[in-house]
Amino acid sequence: LLAAGGGAPDLLARHKAVMPSWMPIYYAEPIEIVSGSGRRVTDAAGRTYLDFFGGVLTNMLGYDIAEVREAVERQLRTGVSHTSTLYLIRQQVELAEKIARVSGIEDARVFFTNSGTEANEAALLMATTIRRSNQVLAVRNSYHGRSYAAIGITGHRSWSSSSLNPLQVAWLHSGDRLRGLLARLDEADHIEAAVEDLREVLATQTAGDVACLIAEPIQGVGGFVHAPDGLFAGLKKVLDEYGILLISDEVQTGWGRTGEHFWGYQAHGVTPDLLTFAKGIGNGFALGGVVGRADVINAIQAISFSTFGGNPISTAAGNAVLDYVLDHDLQANAQRVGAILRDGLREAAENHPIVAEVRGKGLMLAVEFVRPGTLEPDAAVTTRVFEECKARGLLVGKGGLYGNALRMGPPLTLTEDEAREGLAILVDSIAAAAA
Ligand code: PMP
Repeated sequence: LLAAGGGAPDLLARHKAVMPSWMPIYYAEPIEIVSGSGRRVTDAAGRTYLDFFGGVLTNMLGYDIAEVREAVERQLRTGVSHTSTLYLIRQQVELAEKIARVSGIEDARVFFTNSGTEANEAALLMATTIRRSNQVLAVRNSYHGRSYAAIGITGHRSWSSSSLNPLQVAWLHSGDRLRGLLARLDEADHIEAAVEDLREVLATQTAGDVACLIAEPIQGVGGFVHAPDGLFAGLKKVLDEYGILLISDEVQTGWGRTGEHFWGYQAHGVTPDLLTFAKGIGNGFALGGVVGRADVINAIQAISFSTFGGNPISTAAGNAVLDYVLDHDLQANAQRVGAILRDGLREAAENHPIVAEVRGKGLMLAVEFVRPGTLEPDAAVTTRVFEECKARGLLVGKGGLYGNALRMGPPLTLTEDEAREGLAILVDSIAAAAA
């Protein structure tokens, strides 16, 4: 049975050794991916899949990218895969300069970490230290990582295993356009209501000495839910009255994925005080970080350090990845190819009342499934579509607060032909699941 699913026969049984039972594994018959090339991966049973999830938006360029492999091999051949941030590391300095340049933040500085969790942890440490307050604002339906503080600002019950929290958190409404208090408002009214919500939360739940607001421009794990463009600008006006810092978690939305902009925050017409990144910049190598204005980051009167953050291997990969993204204008590709996928999905959705919404931007698109004629989430039908896609050779993601969103975050190198190929599979899979 497992061999048919593409996993080594005993690997699922042995999997309990590396992960606790609460960690979900994708698919009724889990797959073991053993190789990849371009936008395709092959499992242990020899089945090849078109990959529209890219290891949760992490394989941003796809698989077996010569430029990245060669950059890492060059670094490995020096014999130095690690030194220490106590010494100068050329790859790290070069990448920091490049990221500062593309960050959109004036006079920016970069602090490197190994993951998105650590990036958010570092940003929270900066904001709470500078503001001398452990009170933060976070958004319902958010996901920010697995550290003690990052779980505390994650607004999903299923990802927040503990009610203990090192931070005092006050919650803002998410940008969900289907459910909740801000649903079905037009864009201007939505922003007005969200700003009102922020003022009310500040007045009723805080003494005003709040450190920061952390928000994802598009909520990744939350099912690619996003508020109308311009929301951050409305919120920031209020934040500025109090001196509250804005942190944009760009772990999923960065590097041109949204097509229209290089960073998700840029759709909002304001610049955050701190921006966090991870995932795609390493294209598989562990690399994350925080970018912020020098006057913000340097306001910390303490030394911070990470043994592996910004190590020569990861930053060699990061330099190659960022050069590739810029040289090939993958942001424009995300917009062009993403539009084919989004328009095709919207057209198909018209025939399928199980689809409540096709949303997202660029190559970050989700389809939300409901019981026809209602807004009742249908996780079962979502799982059916998900399995039908796999049976037809397409990997996608699942997510959303109710597990009823199908998520597409393919490599930004996706071609038009591949977009059409995946789209056809998605349309067939939706029809099969609806039948
Ligand atoms: N922020 C966002 C928006 C994320 O999607 C994730 C990971 N899914 C994280 C932070 C945490 O990143 P990591 O898993 O690298 O710690």
